[in-house]
Amino acid sequence: MTPKIARFLAEQQPATPCLVLDVDRVEGNFRALRDALPLAQIYYAVKANPAHPILERLVGLGSRFDAASFEEVEACLRAGARPEAVSFGNTIKKVSAIRRAFAAGVSMYAFDSVEELEKLAQHAPGSRVYCRILVENAGADWPLSRKFGTTVETARNLMLRAGELGLDPYGLSFHVGSQQTSTASYEAAIGRVAMLFTDLREAGVNLRMLNLGGGFPTRYRDEVPGIDAFGNAIMHAMTEAFGNALPEMVIEPGRFIVADAGVVSAEVVLVSRRSEEQPVRWVYLDIGRFGGLAETEGEAIRYRITTPHDGGTTGPVAIAGPTCDGADIMYERSNYRLPMALTCGDRVELHSTGAYVTTYASQAFNGFAPLAEHYI
Ligand SMILES: *Cc1c(COP(=O)(O)O)cnc(C)c1O
Repeated sequence: MTPKIARFLAEQQPATPCLVLDVDRVEGNFRALRDALPLAQIYYAVKANPAHPILERLVGLGSRFDAASFEEVEACLRAGARPEAVSFGNTIKKVSAIRRAFAAGVSMYAFDSVEELEKLAQHAPGSRVYCRILVENAGADWPLSRKFGTTVETARNLMLRAGELGLDPYGLSFHVGSQQTSTASYEAAIGRVAMLFTDLREAGVNLRMLNLGGGFPTRYRDEVPGIDAFGNAIMHAMTEAFGNALPEMVIEPGRFIVADAGVVSAEVVLVSRRSEEQPVRWVYLDIGRFGGLAETEGEAIRYRITTPHDGGTTGPVAIAGPTCDGADIMYERSNYRLPMALTCGDRVELHSTGAYVTTYASQAFNGFAPLAEHYI
């Protein structure tokens, strides 16, 4: 937690649950990533946290943006981004969204199928397009499964087709999975797609851009490699694969930029036991899976939690949300321990909750209002 957030929580005592996010930390993370990979153009993945103060700060720093919908394109433009600085990176786009983005001046689009490519040719003619390749997500705490991407062989045909359709076959992309803790996953993916650059050049198509996606990890409960380790591994693999003829490099960080800039302040609603001989206490908070902590599904993302009683004796706990839904349990198997003194009414903090939290909050499930947000 940054000193600014600590002061805000102490002085304002904002109603819980709420997210408090320090925009200076966003700037610090952006600069650290730019220093670690100075040759890469940063396209912030807006979906991680689309709040206006974040986008505005990033525009000021020269960031570009990866948008998943036309609504996100609009949010970037409202924050002052130029349309040329916005990439429409979702491989699944409504025709109406493509048309509106194209009319707004967006000129770079992702795809991973011939069907989407044909939509782009028709509704965003002449645009720069890049094909997403399916790569291994091993090592990622939040893998992106097999929903996106195509094979190298299919990508080759699609890039040839892109030119025939009057589009600009600009480059290739991949995503190694979110909260990726292994630098080797980037190295392996770079090796895989680099071959296609050569192959397509021989077929007369000169790709100019490689989009390495996001995935850069933030520190939750467990330690992760620093951002410099990722920068070094990536540059080493790029040089190995491309020599001194490097293509333009694009990265699309989401989590790394915003996660550790935010803290959720929550209240303990109930601490109870199933039976007297049960050592595990159930701790119910006023935020849960439906209040924004969706990434606790499968206990994939394990947030660090602090309480007013830290330092005292602890015991094992299960941690759950306040709704009447049986799926609203955050942690049962991840060996969480909290102080024995923890009691109803205590305020607790969930750390590094600046990414993938606010927008996952439901509208009013069980009558609970969406998560309040404070950007400072
Ligand atoms: C979600 C997403 C990102 C951001 O991923 P992080 O793991 O948050 O860095 C980047 N690119 C694409 C295409 C995405 O879908």
